[in-house]
Amino acid sequence: EEPPAALAVPQAGDPSLLLLRRVGVVDPASLDDYRAHDGYAALRRAFALGPAGVIREVTDSGLVGRGGAAFPTGRKWQATASQPDRPHYLVCNADESEPGTFKDRVIMEGDPYALIEAMTIAAYAIGAHRGFLYLRGEYPRALRRLEHAVAQARARGFLGDDILGQGFAFDIEIRRGAGAYICGEETALFNSVEGYRGEPRAKPPFPVEKGLFGKPTVENNVETLVNVVPILTMGAPAYAALGTGTSTGPKLFCVSGSVARPGVYELPFGATLGELLTLAGVRDGLRAVLLGGAAGGFVRPDELGIPLTFEGTREAGTTLGSGVVLAFDDTVPLPRLLLRIAEFFRDESCGQCVPCRVGTVRQEEALHRIVARTGADAAGDIALLREVGRAMRDASICGLGQTAWNAVESAIDRLGAYE
Ligand code: NAD
Ligand code: SF4
Repeated sequence: EEPPAALAVPQAGDPSLLLLRRVGVVDPASLDDYRAHDGYAALRRAFALGPAGVIREVTDSGLVGRGGAAFPTGRKWQATASQPDRPHYLVCNADESEPGTFKDRVIMEGDPYALIEAMTIAAYAIGAHRGFLYLRGEYPRALRRLEHAVAQARARGFLGDDILGQGFAFDIEIRRGAGAYICGEETALFNSVEGYRGEPRAKPPFPVEKGLFGKPTVENNVETLVNVVPILTMGAPAYAALGTGTSTGPKLFCVSGSVARPGVYELPFGATLGELLTLAGVRDGLRAVLLGGAAGGFVRPDELGIPLTFEGTREAGTTLGSGVVLAFDDTVPLPRLLLRIAEFFRDESCGQCVPCRVGTVRQEEALHRIVARTGADAAGDIALLREVGRAMRDASICGLGQTAWNAVESAIDRLGAYE
């Protein structure tokens, strides 16, 4: 089904921005228009630097993964580039499924050539000649625009056997997800591409060593990749000067819920949660903010001074995740919301390991009981939730089970959800 016409990008086209500057300005169907807006300058610089020079630049920029886990991108690229085993693969994780996350969609619909250019640069750096773009199935407009852009790039020598006459061969295959949240987990995604059930693999070995088809693979999120374009055009030192010492550059935030102007915002790391919510027009009666999506955690209205950095949110006992900022005012029934989150995890658990398969069911049951009793006599069920939550966090194979209790725990401990 076609999603709503366009996502709100309140700052679209602001030339001072690095990631959203072309969104709403450039014609997403026109390679020429992309080139007229500085398109492919970064790839030319990449060819001038050579693969090792590109990796050095990305490492020096301080770029870390924007999917949510903040792993250093340069380290990931170097780890795959140095593997003797061949071939190497590049995978773009565009299975954007974290509830409240819609930033990658804005890039793919509004500036698709930037992603193709960024993938080409990454592939050149790590020595990959094939790239897969795994797209969330519910993004049909992004699919159309990316398919068109890939075809145009191929026809004009920006993909293919001899890109820009530099003797480098690279092409991109687009694969669509089929609605499973777990297929956004990097190794479940490999299984899905390979035609197996979308179940996570145990790590290590990490994908940099054994990834897609068992070969060294770099898998990066869409936003992570598109950052490489400004890194190469402005240079690593200028990029690293943005943000904070350990969270460098710009970040996209997905703001929704009880705000006047929901949408995708670009801010340098280090702005506070309160500053972002002011931009988005926070409404009166704010009760809580969910940071990092369903796998993240709630914060209170008196905690809006939290700096939006990976380290700042960690120190505050929460997470930035993929940049979700969901605001709830006092009209939202919190226990119902928590139950909805629990239903989501129970539904999306792949069922491969016991702590998550059983734990997500027990969590949902306990929350059902609490809601049915309208919060009275919740102590026993809260104790059970803690026990189940600990088991899921400690013993689940992948991030889904490990984080399925985060939001509920923070609602109990920070918001006093059932008091
Ligand atoms: P992770 O910390 O296990 O790994 C992060 C990345 O670093 C992976 O690519 C992993 O392969 C790599 N890595 C980690 N250690 C490594 C090592 N020693 N050597 C080489 N590579 C290494 O996290 P994860 O489980 O991949 O992702 C969890 C995150 O995903 C959460 O923060 C969550 O917010 C986010 N998430 C995002 C979405 C979304 O829609 N964007 C959806 C669900 C979850
Ligand atoms: Fe599957 Fe959950 Fe285990 Fe992850 S933690 S492998 S989603 S059952």
